[in-house]
Amino acid sequence: MAELNQSQFEAVSSLEGPYLIIAGAGSGKTRTLVYRVARLVESGYEPSSILLLTFTRKAAREMMSRAELLLDKRCAKIQGGTFHSFANVILRKYAKAAGLGHNFTILDQSDSEDVVNLLRTQLKLGSEAKRFPKKETLFKIYSLAVNTGREIPDIVGDEYPQFVNDLETITFLRDSYTEYKRQNNLLDYDDLIVKLRDFLFDLSPAAKNLLNTINFVMVDEYQDTNKLQSQVVAALTQLRDNIMVVGDDQQSIYAFRGADYKNILQFPDQFPGTRIIKLEENYRSTQSILNFANRVQEAAIFKFDKQLYTQNGSGDVPVIVAAPNDNMQSKFIVNKILELREEGVPLEDMAVLFRSSYFSFDLEIELAKANIPYIKVGGIKFIESAHIKDLLAFLRVALNPTDVVSFYRILLLHGGIGPKSAQKMIDEVTSGKFDLSKSEMINGETTLYKKLPELYEVLYRLHNKKETPVEKAQVALEYYLPLFFENYDDYNKRRKDLDVFINICQKYDTLEEFLTDIAIEPPVDSVTDVEEESDQDEYLTLSTIHSAKGLEWHTVFIINVIDGFFPSVRAFESIETLEEERRLMYVAVTRAKRNLFVTYPIRIFSREEGMTISKLSRFLNNITTDHAEGWLYE
Ligand code: ATP
Ligand code: MG
Repeated sequence: MAELNQSQFEAVSSLEGPYLIIAGAGSGKTRTLVYRVARLVESGYEPSSILLLTFTRKAAREMMSRAELLLDKRCAKIQGGTFHSFANVILRKYAKAAGLGHNFTILDQSDSEDVVNLLRTQLKLGSEAKRFPKKETLFKIYSLAVNTGREIPDIVGDEYPQFVNDLETITFLRDSYTEYKRQNNLLDYDDLIVKLRDFLFDLSPAAKNLLNTINFVMVDEYQDTNKLQSQVVAALTQLRDNIMVVGDDQQSIYAFRGADYKNILQFPDQFPGTRIIKLEENYRSTQSILNFANRVQEAAIFKFDKQLYTQNGSGDVPVIVAAPNDNMQSKFIVNKILELREEGVPLEDMAVLFRSSYFSFDLEIELAKANIPYIKVGGIKFIESAHIKDLLAFLRVALNPTDVVSFYRILLLHGGIGPKSAQKMIDEVTSGKFDLSKSEMINGETTLYKKLPELYEVLYRLHNKKETPVEKAQVALEYYLPLFFENYDDYNKRRKDLDVFINICQKYDTLEEFLTDIAIEPPVDSVTDVEEESDQDEYLTLSTIHSAKGLEWHTVFIINVIDGFFPSVRAFESIETLEEERRLMYVAVTRAKRNLFVTYPIRIFSREEGMTISKLSRFLNNITTDHAEGWLYE
């Protein structure tokens, strides 16, 4: 009671029934969930009967360890994670009842795209058409359909009208993709959620069994769930509706991935008898920062009448800093960081946020020069880089020799093996003629055995010999290295990543665990930072705004706040995308506790126009001298 306000306390002490907590940024939504977990455990509920769903696994881990600090070790035993990681755990455990082969492989987004591409080539689809959607677009259409419940023709009609004539082919390819995954025991991200939902809705004895072990369900950041996820929530609460969701409609920033903030608004209809708790007071920021945030939000087209307020005092006014160019912007930030550190603000209490991951490239160099350690979150992931995918392909085949997508990838690395002969070898895999589980004798007749005997040997060993993941990774690496040098001109830059990869393997006992883990949530976000993270305990955070949600820092810098960068040019397309981008600005601003610096370079370079003069982001149009100081850094 001493540490919560009245509404928070009401939520924390609640037991049965549906609850919706809808409240502004920094009002203690996440904190409320943490306290509720601790409180439920303290009241004697079985920890494993509490399910806490969060947007990232890291968020879940942090919330659990905070609950642990509040109460005791029992809080570490609750079930916490993302929808995807939870689905994975359940489907592995109940594979049979859910109609799945055991040991299924998970396709991450780029794997899924590769499969779609492979099928497209195999089926000779769209080859003569002048314009046929790219694999990324195709996959996006399929995924949106699953996540939003919209039909493919609607999505194509609305968002890709140029491909309406290809509808039949697009749909056919989707069906082939579905069939392909079924045959090869593959699940993509969306399948994880779909299969979980269907398994639960079936209410088989196994499903009932599971549902009986789950007493309380809680979901953070509910504004960024999609329709499919809201169905999972419904499925999870069929036997008991002890469900609490928390969120803020003003912070919905994942519509581009199918999230629907209406989920949160419609929650009371979905769960009759919902008690709605509003948290009004902000505990995170100073009033000056909140005034700034309120001004950003007031200009929104879809208006909400929430105004953030706090008793934290007014604090320093946010600063809008103009620098002559990109590099001077970086220098300002470096200097300010050094100054603040001098004043006693630890590095980990500061963050630099940006709309797009590449905005920070110049800054990263300046930080390195100044010896300021940092980690970077969001953007291109380590695990998505081509050479890491290559190495992974070996391990995937080791675990699942019929994973032909990975097989295909490995084959194409070899000089002299083109799509055609690779396809021939793949056909032998699919037809069962080539099988790593069979003896060398039987495989002796296959094309792969004859053409690439060394590769054969390595794969055979990887699949059959009992070794730890790191031992296998080393075997694969040894074989891969010459191919690596051959395939990448910039191998110097990439080489270090391979060592990092081996390092990561070291943490795992089984290959399955390792592959699942990196498919579901890559363990590292950026290569260069892995070591920094491990031997530095103090570091600055660089993050995309998308990856910063729910977090907070003493000092926040938002960089490149220029029209065309933030909002990005692509956001100009529609009011919806522009408004989503505005909410993104709102999310960024509300991360700051004490200091907010919004920075931009006056001159920018574009390839088309050369040097041009930038224009401050339209999202700051409403900001007057009452709400921010203007600095020029020269
Ligand atoms: P977001 O919308 O950004 O996810 P949130 O609503 O989840 O924010 P929290 O992160 O839970 O907010 O809380 C913001 C900050 O305010 C945290 O540092 C939290 O510890 C603090 N806080 C919340 N409620 C209280 C309270 N009653 N007393 C003191 N501090 C509080
Ligand atoms: Mg939160």
